[in-house]
Amino acid sequence: MSSDGVELKRDTSDQVDYGGLSIVIPVYNEQGNIEPLIDEILNVLSASELEEYTPFELVFADDGSTDGSRRQLRELAERHDTVRALFLSRNFGQTAALAAGIDASTGDIIVTMDADRQNDPNDIPRLLKKYKEGYDCVSGRRVNRQDPITKRLPSTIQTYLAKRTGPDIHDFGCTLKVYNADSLRDIDLYGEGHRYIPAKLYNKGYRITETEVNHRERKYGSSKYGAKRLMKGSLDLLFHAFWNRFSTRPLHLYGSIGTVVFSVGGLLGIHMLFTRLVLGNALEPHLPRLLLVTALVLFGLQIFIFGVLAEILTRIYYQDQEPYRIQTIIE
Ligand code: UDP
Ligand code: MG
Repeated sequence: MSSDGVELKRDTSDQVDYGGLSIVIPVYNEQGNIEPLIDEILNVLSASELEEYTPFELVFADDGSTDGSRRQLRELAERHDTVRALFLSRNFGQTAALAAGIDASTGDIIVTMDADRQNDPNDIPRLLKKYKEGYDCVSGRRVNRQDPITKRLPSTIQTYLAKRTGPDIHDFGCTLKVYNADSLRDIDLYGEGHRYIPAKLYNKGYRITETEVNHRERKYGSSKYGAKRLMKGSLDLLFHAFWNRFSTRPLHLYGSIGTVVFSVGGLLGIHMLFTRLVLGNALEPHLPRLLLVTALVLFGLQIFIFGVLAEILTRIYYQDQEPYRIQTIIE
């Protein structure tokens, strides 16, 4: 417990028996990167300090690659016991690929990272060490970010938005993270949601911290994020912030406004009736007042119905998030 009574960390007093470590990596057209990345990761994992986290698995989720990535992954999964590959039926986007990899993973701890070798596997032991202190998520913070300003700027805006409803970390966009697998399975991933997993976890009360990590230049292939995709990510984030604010249901927001407007109209109407029927003297001018009362009552009802519609739409939105489809898995 911290001084303000908020429990910040998991209780690690008992010896924790970690039931395996899964490294989940979404792949979309990364043919030059996959093999060197696997070599690098396996090299890091072979260090004796990580023995307590065995067994390891590398779960690659191919997001409908159209270059040689699929063929390479198939071969590498067959060659290495620790490498598993699953293939989505088409390109669903990084979040869906990540979700597919997470769903297929078996470890108690999940490490996520990119396939493009911008994340440095040598950071994994340090993230794990921090994780052991009792967090549910240790997020990488890129200190020497190797991306152009066109990517850093939207990322800064997204971080600003995410921070408003999320944990106090500085780099939401860094995909190199360590998670308690249960916490990750406790949240829904859709849209461009991988960008604000920490915010989602934070809302559920999970403990999040960050650790500085290295960031490297992309050597092979190119970034899959153009302006359009970054825009979509920001919109998702705005929606998320709004949704959090009225997380209970949109009906609560529209419902209250509608009720207030309706009540004002209703009270005015009662006042009119009272003065007319009980006191016997009609308020002049009569017609504009009657119109105002009618307008307020109808308008209030309308806002309320709006809330009901918003509620229905929100539910459809969540239902309609197209789930990924896996074609094959190679163990
Ligand atoms: N990725 C994916 N599906 C996509 C786009 C990207 O699985 O539709 C993967 C990509 O192969 C990489 C990671 O997501 O492993 C991050 O993508 P990228 O490097 O293009 O993003 P950036 O680092 O530029 O933000
Ligand atoms: Mg990248």
